[in-house]
Amino acid sequence: MRQIFISIFLIFFLFNCKQSTESTATDSSKTEVVDEVSNSSKAEFAIIIHGGAGTILKKNMTPEREAAYKAKLEEAIRVGYEILKDGGSSLDAVQKTINIMEDSPLFNAGKGAVFTNAETNELDASIMDGNTLNAGASAGTTNVRNPINLARVIMEESPHVMMAGEGAETYAQEQGLQIVDPSYFSTDRRLESLKRVKDREAKKEKNIDTESAYLDFYDADIKNAKFGTVGCAALDKNGNLAAGTSTGGMTNKRYGRVGDAPLIGAGTYANNNSCAVSSTGWGEYFIRAMVAHDISALMQYKGLTLKEAAQEVIQTKVPELGGDGGIIAVDKDGNMVAEFNTAGMYRASMNDKGELEIGIYKD
Ligand code: ASP
Repeated sequence: MRQIFISIFLIFFLFNCKQSTESTATDSSKTEVVDEVSNSSKAEFAIIIHGGAGTILKKNMTPEREAAYKAKLEEAIRVGYEILKDGGSSLDAVQKTINIMEDSPLFNAGKGAVFTNAETNELDASIMDGNTLNAGASAGTTNVRNPINLARVIMEESPHVMMAGEGAETYAQEQGLQIVDPSYFSTDRRLESLKRVKDREAKKEKNIDTESAYLDFYDADIKNAKFGTVGCAALDKNGNLAAGTSTGGMTNKRYGRVGDAPLIGAGTYANNNSCAVSSTGWGEYFIRAMVAHDISALMQYKGLTLKEAAQEVIQTKVPELGGDGGIIAVDKDGNMVAEFNTAGMYRASMNDKGELEIGIYKD
């Protein structure tokens, strides 16, 4: 009886050992398969752009205007796409793509930038190399035609990351960048926007006493005083990520105000270990939420996917603080995301198969 019992026990024991070896083997082969799948689905290169986020509603858009935005987004992204397809760097793709949008009066960057309270145009830009974590940024320039070019020379030619105001302008001149008369940036459309915002502000000041300055800052109306910041994120064939952002900031901004766009970690971030991000939205909140770096950190340290990380920051963290806006981003495998909590965001993406997607509204 005792022998029978021991035999049954041994058979049971051996059977279990076999099962667990098999299941370990199955698990590890599963891991390999998953790795292979993700490797084989890794894109060779990818590019995504934005032209600003905000209350962009179809009912307020004419078909001509919509077509003009779409055409410019397509023109811009195709420039970067061709660079990447030919084996060029993500930094070149980002810079040249942004140049097209800076030169277009449709966007709040370069020509067509919004006006400050003093009726000037003060431009901010930044760029980051995900391979070296080198970065460059310029703030508050008034005569450098393409601020993203200045950000790039600051990154590559100077020992600094950020330069502002007159010093940045002098450096741009020294580096041979194109300098324009400040009136180059002016457009009637943006001047009209400034007048509207100032009118609203004057009306408010009549009704509201001591806290008017703060109320103006927190007023929902100013959410609409910023449209059309531009940005680009790209992955090149060498696996290098880059991101860049260029903007005129917010209509009616005062006294040397600098937004998130030129701040590395808020408006722009790129890291080959995670992703490349460019932000657009209410800069004060994007600075406090460290939007671009937060997305990268959630991926790198917490293992979130790009989509999960972007949702966490844009749909939860930023709105909880009271801000609005969006981001475009690409990860090291070429996955692309456009995430925003506003009614719309001008955006476009192209993958390594040449498939183009363009969007303006939420759906
Ligand atoms: N983020 C920009 C700023 O606050 C504005 C925008 O993206 O629309 O300067």
